[in-house]
Amino acid sequence: MFGESRGLIIYSRDHKEKDKLVKIFTEKYGKMVFFVKGAHRKNNPLSAAIMPMTEALYSGDFKTDGLSFLNVAKEIEPFYFLQQDIFANAYATYLLNLADAAIVDRESDQLLYTFLETCLKALNAKKDPEVVTNIFELQILPRFGISLELSGCAVCGNTKGPFDFSEKFHGLLCAKHFDQDPRRLHADPKACYLLKIFSQLPITRLGKINVSETTKKNLRTVIDEIYDQYVGIHLKSKHFIDEMKKWEKMMAPKIDKKNETD
Ligand SMILES: [Zn+2]
Repeated sequence: MFGESRGLIIYSRDHKEKDKLVKIFTEKYGKMVFFVKGAHRKNNPLSAAIMPMTEALYSGDFKTDGLSFLNVAKEIEPFYFLQQDIFANAYATYLLNLADAAIVDRESDQLLYTFLETCLKALNAKKDPEVVTNIFELQILPRFGISLELSGCAVCGNTKGPFDFSEKFHGLLCAKHFDQDPRRLHADPKACYLLKIFSQLPITRLGKINVSETTKKNLRTVIDEIYDQYVGIHLKSKHFIDEMKKWEKMMAPKIDKKNETD
């Protein structure tokens, strides 16, 4: 059938010598794989539109089964910073892979589309990539069928910290109820407070957030634990970010610590 939808490139892979298989998260029809013949030809009008980190209005033969075919792309919007910066690209790739893993192909999910699009735009606008990623990771959990109590204590509903995270109660625990779960994570209270904030903060309202490197590291540990325990997927792009963090420190200029707060 003829289809037309805005879409985000999830990946663009070589297929044989001249062609490409391009997976696109379309706003109207969900995720689909397109066969693009002669994608490597210099004057192929689709070249720019099928580059990774691009959004466009795609049209063509959208199949309900097997490969689809792209004919035309309009309103092409490349995310230039994500295409050029290896660090930003790594985070964006991870978000695209998470969205790809969270939902099945060919099922429309406009809310997730808009959320992913907004997060990619935030990364492209050089917002803190770790914060954007943490917000995405926490807010996409329901798509994996996981519902955690992160708005307050899972026992009493108390919304004031300090909190810890409990796998037994699938959510936050306030200090009054720490004794209910001796095997709670014993996580950094600042990181647990950010679990609460980031799981609810509309990404469109993300202003400038300063989180100290220590709190970021502790929050990373908690979210990794949640993903290991509940989601159980191991994406190469996430592993790449973990590795990258190690050499990023060696390459990055010294951050001005005066501007950092918790
Ligand atoms: Zn409580």
